[in-house]
Amino acid sequence: MFIAPSSARSWVEVRPESHFSIQNIPFGLMTVPGGNVTLATAIGDFAVNLTVLRDSGLLSEIKYPDLDHFADFTLESLQGLRYEIFELLEAGNGALRDNDLLRKLALVPLDEASLLLPIRPGAFIDFYSGIHHASNVGKMFRPDMDALLSNYRHVPVGYNGRASSVVVSGTPIHRPKGQTKSPNDPTPTFGPTKELDFELEMGFFVSEPTGMGESLPIDQVPHSILGYVLVNDWSARDVQRWEYQPLGPFLAKSFATSISPWIVLPDALEPFRLNALEQDPQPLPYLQTKRPLRFDIKLEVQLKTRAMSKHQTISVSNAKYLYWSFDQQLAHQSSNGTPLGWGDLYASGTISGPVEGSFGSMLEITWKGSNPIELTETNESRTFLQEGDSLMLTGFCQGDGYRVGFGSVEGTVN
Ligand code: CA
Repeated sequence: MFIAPSSARSWVEVRPESHFSIQNIPFGLMTVPGGNVTLATAIGDFAVNLTVLRDSGLLSEIKYPDLDHFADFTLESLQGLRYEIFELLEAGNGALRDNDLLRKLALVPLDEASLLLPIRPGAFIDFYSGIHHASNVGKMFRPDMDALLSNYRHVPVGYNGRASSVVVSGTPIHRPKGQTKSPNDPTPTFGPTKELDFELEMGFFVSEPTGMGESLPIDQVPHSILGYVLVNDWSARDVQRWEYQPLGPFLAKSFATSISPWIVLPDALEPFRLNALEQDPQPLPYLQTKRPLRFDIKLEVQLKTRAMSKHQTISVSNAKYLYWSFDQQLAHQSSNGTPLGWGDLYASGTISGPVEGSFGSMLEITWKGSNPIELTETNESRTFLQEGDSLMLTGFCQGDGYRVGFGSVEGTVN
């Protein structure tokens, strides 16, 4: 693991509010003129073409022969590449800084960079670890029972979702059709959802596969997480209400899941760990760890309708509100001996904060539609998403004079 000193600075200009400081150095996949694909990193307002750097001898050719996909990378090899890039971008290093031609070739303005889905996950797993979200949903749909079901504080609840519809930020989102039935109708009908929603989540990719029958001990999980992304797990609430019992979510969730294009390595987030959230009752031994479990990642949700000129913030939350940590999620998934796959994507569950203004879905923000979101620029209001609406999630950690961020994940309903 390499934690960049908080005093480190790059020769590339990085504004204090930029997500891509030299302390970050995330990885993405980018198309270049001519149609080729390359691994890239981001610094300040630029994406950096790593194939150009490797071909010029500035990165190890032997260690990184294939820079057009992630599949050969483990966490360890990606950590090594991150360290080489850190050295190249560090203020005192002139190798790239002083080579005008190479610098122009390698650095692409971020707003011109064409970023791809970094990894096509073989599997997508969706947890339900946001305790305030789970509690809000309980209050809304089971008002005469405890807000949390009795298993919630014992077992990290999750389900196997759909990998084929995981898409990168910027991909348009279609309005899914499905079966719905309102309480007063005698029979269900089939048609476009009227309750299209988002879910504010974090996700991670797995870097180490395991074999059938093998279980990953929780203290080894840190070697098995390649990096983190933002996740918007789009949801059709009316479809979900009708289909989810007795077996859980299905078509209400499987039509699209958007992720941010930059994979942020665990090393970059390490300085932003918080003390563990107290878990009461104490989890079973296979879910216990001495490692601080939470990250201080400030999360924000922004909405822009077709008529608006810019996004309006509709919620501010934080990854620290997750009850079950990423380590516990992966240890739990692996506890029954199911094989873990390289590149599998895990989502955390909706991350709502404890109070109004910090909720991670429109279902909660509008409290089942009873309290619409007012959009001040155009005097419009929303209970769920409409055609042309753009929904954007952002997230970052605040350091001393710098940020380690994820950029954003955006999707527009068409
Ligand atoms: Ca979800």
